[in-house]
Amino acid sequence: MRYEGIVYRPPSEARSLIVQLTVGCAHNRCTFCTMYKDKVFRIRSREEIFQDFKDAASAYGGAVKRIFLADGDALVIKTAVLSDILKYAKKCFPEAERISAYGTPLDVLRKTESELIQLRKDGLKLVYMGAESGNQTVLEHICKGVTKDQIIEAGQKLKRCGIGVSVTLISGLGGKELLKEHAVDCAALISAVKPDYTGFLTLMLDDEAPITEQIKSGALTLLKPEDILEEMRLFLRHVDSEGTVFRSNHASNYIVLKGTLNKDIPYMLRYLDEIEEEGRFRPERFRAL
Ligand code: SF4
Repeated sequence: MRYEGIVYRPPSEARSLIVQLTVGCAHNRCTFCTMYKDKVFRIRSREEIFQDFKDAASAYGGAVKRIFLADGDALVIKTAVLSDILKYAKKCFPEAERISAYGTPLDVLRKTESELIQLRKDGLKLVYMGAESGNQTVLEHICKGVTKDQIIEAGQKLKRCGIGVSVTLISGLGGKELLKEHAVDCAALISAVKPDYTGFLTLMLDDEAPITEQIKSGALTLLKPEDILEEMRLFLRHVDSEGTVFRSNHASNYIVLKGTLNKDIPYMLRYLDEIEEEGRFRPERFRAL
């Protein structure tokens, strides 16, 4: 397999075949994200992509159950081309149970419902959407380039078209200043979309990320583990999304939490109380992206 630069994937795609359809992220401006800063965005040629699937099929044969289309936003690709790629992936791996990709809300909104339905029929089962926050001010601060209403609209559209949705949020993005707003509005966003999956990562500072400069200058106050716990508590008290699988078990998280909304909310709130009482946060040295 040929990979350009570091390839990122969601934790749940750890065992998936990963094929790069694009290199980098077309947006590449979020202030906390340095994942693709060293890459100049481009869509790989159809020949390169098809060759990768062909090589993977001869190397792994029937062992591939899941396929993840990288990098940052495979849905930016025109529907007709993406459709051909999905069909070819299924031809190479007929036993694959799931094909998934990252997709930005704007990429989803640019596609018509009939295009999304076509992509679902071609095998696209799940789209990971980085919402990061449900609070409009936070979204503007981090230069997300999209409004909370657009994120909600994109999530609802994917669901209407039968494509699974996984929404990622980031603890700490509002800083101390907007802790409450970030938590409550993240809950409102998830309640509006009711995605199949949602989860929190926790903000980690990278010297190259513009948000680090904001924290150093005092414009944004970094949350301590105890603050993150308060943020999580607020989120769980406000969210209403029956059946959504909830995870906060990424390596960046101070607090490891998992359950299904809404039924496990009381259990998760009790678990937060225990963590608080015992000070059982993941030590800083074990955190990673
Ligand atoms: S967070 Fe997502 S959309 Fe923003 S720059 Fe990083 S990869 Fe691109």
